[in-house]
Amino acid sequence: MAVGIPQALGYHYYNPLWTTFFRDLGIEVVMSGQTDRKKLDRGINIAPGETCLPLKCYLGHALALAGKTERILVPRLVCLRTKPAIRLGCPKMIGLPDMIRALIPDASIVTVNIDLRQQSEEASYAALARELGFPARRARQAYAHGVDVARARQNERIALARASVESNGRLKIGMLGHAYLLYDDFLNLGLLKKTRATGATVINCREIEAGDIDDGPGDIHPLSWYFENHVLSAARRFCTDERISGIVYLCSFGCGAASITAEVIESEIGRGHPVHMLKVVLDEHTGETGIATRIESFVDMLNLRREREL
Ligand code: SF4
Repeated sequence: MAVGIPQALGYHYYNPLWTTFFRDLGIEVVMSGQTDRKKLDRGINIAPGETCLPLKCYLGHALALAGKTERILVPRLVCLRTKPAIRLGCPKMIGLPDMIRALIPDASIVTVNIDLRQQSEEASYAALARELGFPARRARQAYAHGVDVARARQNERIALARASVESNGRLKIGMLGHAYLLYDDFLNLGLLKKTRATGATVINCREIEAGDIDDGPGDIHPLSWYFENHVLSAARRFCTDERISGIVYLCSFGCGAASITAEVIESEIGRGHPVHMLKVVLDEHTGETGIATRIESFVDMLNLRREREL
């Protein structure tokens, strides 16, 4: 049996858990590959009008796998934390399997349904394995191994990011946004690479130990969405770290959650944290040249400010 994994949306948060889990069960894994023009255009062609860019991208990845594997993994991310408060996936992540069934009826999908109000994540993966014909004991082992591999990967990233923050000399820019934008060079139009090309050090918000926003003093109002809370928590860390000179906030046109997150971050910055923020809103019409110009201007401005302060 082969299972396809679209390299978009949740993939950027959950892998290598997924690939390890399936391979440990003895299932062949077929990846959709990096995002490219063809995938994105195919996704755009079938997406409803109000769809955000990452979801259009996901549709393109799912189309690339349709008919190539027996099943395609399409997660349903409903409730991702219950304590100290319930934190949800955005409505599009909750409805993703239904959307794929409606828009790509040829795709045979299998779902991992993460709703921590109902059952643990481990139990959700056991249910996924059961649907594929594997017993719970093997599923638990495969899940535990997947979690270990994913944690080790994340710890490596965090160690590298920590070394970058602590290094001397270069301008440091905190990069905020969802993992599926930050790690997809095609979708973000090479924004992270372009920022590094200016000589600045980029600190990816997925690679800092952001802590838990609900455990803080509470002057940011936590949002109901799990991934938005991570962005907010990271924004707070960037805003209060004097080694970070500026923040680039990458978000998607048509993302209701991000539009609220941006407001909260801006009000936090407005409450006295001396950090400049460049907000970049992406859609399929965003031009690469315009992005490069904005990044270069932002870095120039931060460098001038830094020179004045030295
Ligand atoms: S959080 Fe925003 S960008 Fe992400 S899938 Fe939901 S609507 Fe799209």
